Amino acid sequence: MAQDGARSLFNGASGRLKSALEHTEVTEDTLERLSVPKSVLKVSIPLRMDDGSLRTFAGYRVRYDDSRGPTKGGIRFHPNVNVDEVQSLAFWMTFKCAALDLPFGGAKGGITVDPKELSQLELERLSRRYIDAIADFIGPDVDVPAPDVYTNEMVMGWMMDEYSMITRRITPAAMTGKPRSMGGSAGRDTATADGAFHVISTLMPKLLESGRMAPAANGTAPSVAVQGFGNAGAGLAGLLHDAGYRVVAVSDSQSALYAEDGLDVPAVRRGKAEEGELRAGEGAEELDPEELIGLEVDVLVPAALESAIHEGNAGDVRAGAIFEVANGPIAPEADEVLAERDIPVVPDILASAGGVTVSYFEWVQNRSGLSWSADEVRDRLEERMVAESEAVWAVAEEHAIPMRTAAYVHALGRIGEAIDAQGSRETFALEG
Ligand code: NAD
Repeated sequence: MAQDGARSLFNGASGRLKSALEHTEVTEDTLERLSVPKSVLKVSIPLRMDDGSLRTFAGYRVRYDDSRGPTKGGIRFHPNVNVDEVQSLAFWMTFKCAALDLPFGGAKGGITVDPKELSQLELERLSRRYIDAIADFIGPDVDVPAPDVYTNEMVMGWMMDEYSMITRRITPAAMTGKPRSMGGSAGRDTATADGAFHVISTLMPKLLESGRMAPAANGTAPSVAVQGFGNAGAGLAGLLHDAGYRVVAVSDSQSALYAEDGLDVPAVRRGKAEEGELRAGEGAEELDPEELIGLEVDVLVPAALESAIHEGNAGDVRAGAIFEVANGPIAPEADEVLAERDIPVVPDILASAGGVTVSYFEWVQNRSGLSWSADEVRDRLEERMVAESEAVWAVAEEHAIPMRTAAYVHALGRIGEAIDAQGSRETFALEG
């Protein structure tokens, strides 16, 4: 079942290119190259469990396209991971890196596992065995993994250590999102949230001025609902709260909280960190997590998993605008419903690109031996997120198209240029 669902996830992901093609010219070679992944690896990972038994886990690494540089993408530990999901995520990474003008292609990896069922030692052994299995496939000039759902800097540290042991070289640039003590960058842990915040700050005024989005009710701070309270969602909720937005609702996989006047986000984050769950503090009430998507808010931020907004609930959305902080949180059929209802969507390949941008900064620092200050990282991130948001906005306005299409047009131009530079049908003046 999961397999079928994910196969259509890839069809949906790649189908989004079609609308971009109406507004940009790319060669047939580019389309042919982007229609299939460059390489797909599936591995079996035998793991000795703490009780002495042996279990085998399925692991994947897909490199979608490397025309613009070594491939880059996170590693996900989740029970629903399968090759088609990984392939879709690798496809999105290709466009995300190009949209932000990073010198990378796109990749993604994962293990089909529920990490909550494993002990810390089992998780470490699994992370290391995964790197043993894919070591020939990765490297600082080939393919550079990073964290994703249910992987974190500790996992990346184990993986970088394992890769260094295999290659007998200390190779910090082989992984990003590592602990600072192993060559990680300042600002990587908050990068996805910081990046999304810059995108929202840059594009909200433009959406309002252009009339694509209706203004907040008179005299009230813009309201926000955030689905997913992990690294990306909780961080962004905190930044928006500090900037004066009313974060009226947040959810995780278990529960959701609501407060009309705005949640005390720092307190909710403390509660989640201490107790692992969302606790309703003063003025807040519990909400059915399913209801969050349909709340009447100015900004809706899906920051959990794919297809959270689908054909079945897209009609319920009453948000002024949606900023996709998760990868692929809106199914293509839902996109059509939202477009018909004039609800603007700022796509994942822009709004969730802060993480990979600081991963790029980490890779640059590792390769140059430099260590940038937190301020330097922050300034460089802001500069790039603002510039690329403005560039995507300009494409959207020029062609009067949705921002998702504009972001793909923007990225596709760069990818197409790199593919053609390697020698195209036109270069060799071939017929047909
Ligand atoms: P995370 O593991 O830190 O957090 C995921 C959160 O989503 C958790 O709070 C979990 O409880 C919640 N969740 C899961 N299912 C849910 C559901 N059905 N309803 C509501 N909440 C649910 O992961 P993360 O790193 O924050 O990643 C979240 C999304 O952002 C993913 O799509 C990921 O690919 C994307 N993303 C993350 C980064 C990054 O650097 N962390 C970068 C780019 C994109």
